[in-house]
Amino acid sequence: MMQLNVSQLLKASIGSIRNYEVSEIIDIAGDGSSSLVQGEVRLMRTDRGILAKGTLHTEVEVTCSRCLSLFSCPLALNIEEEYFPTTDVVSGAFLPMPDEPSCFTIDEHHVLDLTEVICQYALLVIPMKPLCREDCAGLCPNCGHNLNHGACDCPPQATDPRWSELSKLALASDVSVNKRKGTE
Ligand SMILES: [Zn+2]
Ligand SMILES: [Zn+2]
Repeated sequence: MMQLNVSQLLKASIGSIRNYEVSEIIDIAGDGSSSLVQGEVRLMRTDRGILAKGTLHTEVEVTCSRCLSLFSCPLALNIEEEYFPTTDVVSGAFLPMPDEPSCFTIDEHHVLDLTEVICQYALLVIPMKPLCREDCAGLCPNCGHNLNHGACDCPPQATDPRWSELSKLALASDVSVNKRKGTE
């Protein structure tokens, strides 16, 4: 359940706690794909509203920055957000919002919606340059063949330019080590 009715919890005393199992499919990236989000969320009545806290797990489809293949990237979301009621649960009167930018609210039907928080937290932890695996071999710069599926037929001297950069760096560090040794 992503939409939780918290009218009972709003009537409870400060410090009261409710635990909820989350197992819901949502479109995290807003691109029409669906991700199963699972975990446990603890809601606690605070003096201002309700604090939602918990760890949720999900996976999103991302494109490997090296070999451009799609893969499933696991995400752990450590959520901690306070939600503010928009109406008083007893009187039904509108409540003023706190002076906090982009705070989360509980709607006039006393429903607390976790969807927006989950999406925001997920976007923060999705890697900027995802790798399908740590040692992804990438694409052949010559023919575009995915080298994770084995070598291509390109001549072996066509080395990846990144490797020659690396060997230059290795040489440079060797030189500096030798220099340092020489001055000792
Ligand atoms: Zn890859
Ligand atoms: Zn190739």
